[in-house]
Amino acid sequence: MNPKILLLGPPGAGKGTQSSNLVSEFGVEHVTTGDALRANKEMDISDLGLEYDTPGEYMDRGELVPDDVVNAIVEKALTSADGFVLDGYPRNLDQAEELESMTDLDVIVSLSVSEDELVDRLTGRRVCSECGENYHVEFDQPEEAGVCDACGGELIQREDDREEAVRNRLEVFAENTEPVIEYYSDREEFVEIDGEQSLEGVWADLQATVDEVA
Ligand code: ADP
Ligand code: ADP
Ligand code: ZN
Repeated sequence: MNPKILLLGPPGAGKGTQSSNLVSEFGVEHVTTGDALRANKEMDISDLGLEYDTPGEYMDRGELVPDDVVNAIVEKALTSADGFVLDGYPRNLDQAEELESMTDLDVIVSLSVSEDELVDRLTGRRVCSECGENYHVEFDQPEEAGVCDACGGELIQREDDREEAVRNRLEVFAENTEPVIEYYSDREEFVEIDGEQSLEGVWADLQATVDEVA
């Protein structure tokens, strides 16, 4: 059995970047609600009687997509995975309770990063329009500007990485997701890693942490 890893942290902490490392090193599946929702931004959810009719309308504003939509995505992905790194979920306490009923976890990692650094990381982030790989205009440049190293796809800026949506996402994090980190913090499986280190520094700590349970 491959390890079951939960990766927590604010937007821009490096969850997506480090998840790619975990996939290569430990053979786990990357289960990320952000990517799953981006692939379904135009899905018709009007029959749920919510504020907006598609996930994209919540996402572009930096708001949370309603729990029913997100829980279903995660439940489906986790049942078919042999080991996973779960990234971007749970983002509120109701989702955390839902996760308890779906699976157990081998390790729960929280990446901590200061708010100023998060704004710099998010506004400079570029993502591959084909495969979703993350880059940064300063901190993690591709070999050729604007082109994905992994697949040759075009690098673009996410709609919600503009400054205004970034500020809103950080507020949503403080209000909804910080309590989730608090909720897990006294578990035996919980480990906090300094996410403000270099990419390599964070990876060294993360690899050592997962090695202990793998
Ligand atoms: P980041 O990695 O920068 O934090 P994500 O790609 O995880 O951003 O998420 C992008 C957007 O997708 C969020 O701002 C939110 O609108 C939606 N989203 C992702 N995961 C969830 C979730 N677990 N619950 C509700 N909305 C979510
Ligand atoms: P998350 O999935 O948590 O929102 P990402 O992995 O997408 O975060 O990282 C956000 C941005 O910060 C990306 O542009 C990424 O290249 C960059 N980044 C990630 N980790 C680091 C780090 N340790 N130091 C500097 N930049 C980083
Ligand atoms: Zn790519």
